[in-house]
Amino acid sequence: MSTCTSRLDYMIERLKEKGFRITPQRVAIVEILANSCEHPGVDQIYREVTKNFPTTSLATVYKTVTLLKELGEVMEMGFGDESNRYDGKNPHPHPHIMCVACKSIIDPDLSSLNEMSKELSEETGYKIVSHRLDFFGVCPDCQNISG
Ligand code: ZN
Ligand code: MN
Repeated sequence: MSTCTSRLDYMIERLKEKGFRITPQRVAIVEILANSCEHPGVDQIYREVTKNFPTTSLATVYKTVTLLKELGEVMEMGFGDESNRYDGKNPHPHPHIMCVACKSIIDPDLSSLNEMSKELSEETGYKIVSHRLDFFGVCPDCQNISG
């Protein structure tokens, strides 16, 4: 990926390569995935897109997200129900922390991650190629409400 190509343009190119027809609605979906820091779910993406493109169907959102996931351009965080969340800003493995109250998800800057991988590799003899690391807690905002 060239540094002068935006993440949005890059994702659109990947979809075009797959013969996916690029409509304004689909560009809007990809744009949300490429730019959102909030790790949106399909419902959130749908709500956002229909503000500007009211005729967009939920199926179109699902199809676009699924194809980008298959292309490795969107990371899916599965929660075992319909509440899967997506990261198109950074599709590469990285840890997340989720608030159990408001369901916000952020990307923590975890400096010990490399150390942890190294320790795990030494401990088990495995060559680490990827990871899935989700933390759950109560975010500062929600702590203030309840406290
Ligand atoms: Zn919260
Ligand atoms: Mn993330």
